[in-house]
Amino acid sequence: MVQISKNQNFNGISSKNLMDATYKAIENFQIRAFFEAKDEILKAGKINETEFYDILDAMIDSETERRLVCERLLGEKPLFLEEITRVVQDFPPENVIRDIIYLKEQGYIEEIVETKTKKVIKKIKGEEKEVEETEFFYRYHVRAIPDDFIEYFLEPVSVVFDSKVCCQCGWCSSICPVNAITVTADTLEIDDEICMKCGLCYSVCPRSFSIEQAGKNIKKLDKSLNFSEKINGYVNTYSATTTKDEIKKVRQDGGIVTSILEYLLKKKKLMLL
Ligand code: SF4
Ligand code: SF4
Repeated sequence: MVQISKNQNFNGISSKNLMDATYKAIENFQIRAFFEAKDEILKAGKINETEFYDILDAMIDSETERRLVCERLLGEKPLFLEEITRVVQDFPPENVIRDIIYLKEQGYIEEIVETKTKKVIKKIKGEEKEVEETEFFYRYHVRAIPDDFIEYFLEPVSVVFDSKVCCQCGWCSSICPVNAITVTADTLEIDDEICMKCGLCYSVCPRSFSIEQAGKNIKKLDKSLNFSEKINGYVNTYSATTTKDEIKKVRQDGGIVTSILEYLLKKKKLMLL
């Protein structure tokens, strides 16, 4: 299952800059791999031709946005994410933050980590103790873009599984257009014979990028969000259970996720691939 977001808003970008960025975007390894595998993808039968071009369109738009963000930051000193969103005002701040984290994974942007350690008083087993607490600060700057940059590609998600951070959510498997990924309760296998390295699985995997880091920075920008160390930024919390009898019979907990998905599918806000 995948939500396809189409047509980023490029208003305010000059036609020349937009064309240059789009031209470079279509040289991207994942986009070429996806495009060149069109016949195999359609043969796999998971998506039809219209959906194929919808996904391709969305991939090109996202990569074009990243190129524009990257070029805007070329020559800037290392900046914190909040500072970057003030420098790059062409896109919503949450897009820019996500782009920076993604660009770091692609190798365009270097992350500089600084730490500050302070002593704080904490209650441990009922006793107040002085402990050292380390805070991490991340700044980012664009590396000089190498000529062979287009050959950088995101690994399929086996790297996530091998790093033992996979949560077995199955997102990668549902988006893979050639059914190359099999996820079970405790295994993840990728069929290298059919994987064409489009990187879609890595892009959607909630454990592939530092979501936590991006979330903390989005929280700083959006003061309406509350913050939890466990779930990151949130607007509000509710406790609920489904009212649908057929979902009640098979639910794991409250059946809310299933009910929301059913609603979104009925309203055609989500597509099954
Ligand atoms: S396993 Fe990942 S990289 Fe390979 S084809 Fe599927 S989605 Fe693309
Ligand atoms: S999307 Fe990521 S976290 Fe989810 S099953 Fe795949 S590798 Fe694991």
